[in-house]
Amino acid sequence: MEPTAIPCKTILNPTGGFLGQGYTHTINLYRGCALGNTLCGVYCYAQWNPYHVRGRTWGRFLDVKEGAVQAYCTQYDRLKTSGDPKPIRIFMSSVTEPYPPQERTLRRTRELLEAMVDRPPDLLAIQSHTPLVVEDLSLLQQLQQQCDVRVHITVETDKPKLPAPFPNQAYSPHSRIQALHTLRAAGLDSVATVSPLLPLDDPRRFAGELEQACTRVILDHYLLGDGSKEGQRTNRTALPRLLREADYDEWTTLEKFHEIVDVFRRVFGSHERVGVSREGFNAGTVTQKRVC
Ligand code: SF4
Repeated sequence: MEPTAIPCKTILNPTGGFLGQGYTHTINLYRGCALGNTLCGVYCYAQWNPYHVRGRTWGRFLDVKEGAVQAYCTQYDRLKTSGDPKPIRIFMSSVTEPYPPQERTLRRTRELLEAMVDRPPDLLAIQSHTPLVVEDLSLLQQLQQQCDVRVHITVETDKPKLPAPFPNQAYSPHSRIQALHTLRAAGLDSVATVSPLLPLDDPRRFAGELEQACTRVILDHYLLGDGSKEGQRTNRTALPRLLREADYDEWTTLEKFHEIVDVFRRVFGSHERVGVSREGFNAGTVTQKRVC
């Protein structure tokens, strides 16, 4: 897939809605995603965003925002160097992946992190579906000296493979859990996002693995946390239908979700390290104290 360069004048976008309680801005360096034909592409709601997709086939395009570093510096200086400096608490990314496979050669996320070392936000949360974020470990450690940094990696199931016709996962759950381990061992706030919760083989064992690998976990279900009423966004995707066809009906219910949350809370031995949906994503960003 050949990335397309697109101009970008602003990169810090004021946030609201689901993330508005804790974050002031979102950043999306890429538009589109090369992982769109993998498991997460089944439920990815970015595929329904006409502004992002512009009539193209989801999973078949990647736009790269040119000038993002300059835009960040300009906006940062405007927000921070006035007589009344404003908070900058960033969630990156809210729509598309900050570490698509092309990041390995393009290094746009890395360039922005380098700029942030000189212009640190108050908080940076990186949300990725991939273990590639560990390639920027030393940079994240530098940034952590200057601001609150947390790295979220989605691990929505412990199953290495869901039955056909579910597509394969781009990166195995094991590789993502290993990345969380690496981040935690390096002193970073590593957060597993089990979001949206998909069928699990062994909930207790999975919770135990994540308890070792990360400082916190956030669980979410598409009926609660896809940003629409009662999962309308996800209901437009094939996910609910595929789950039912594969006899995973119970995983489409909130009863099952709350049962899994209880398992995690028992294994973690703490409610504070197990966040749920909107409160979990926004926890500790402003007034609440995090427990790491
Ligand atoms: S990695 Fe994220 S943006 Fe890309 S397809 Fe998966 S859910 Fe969508």
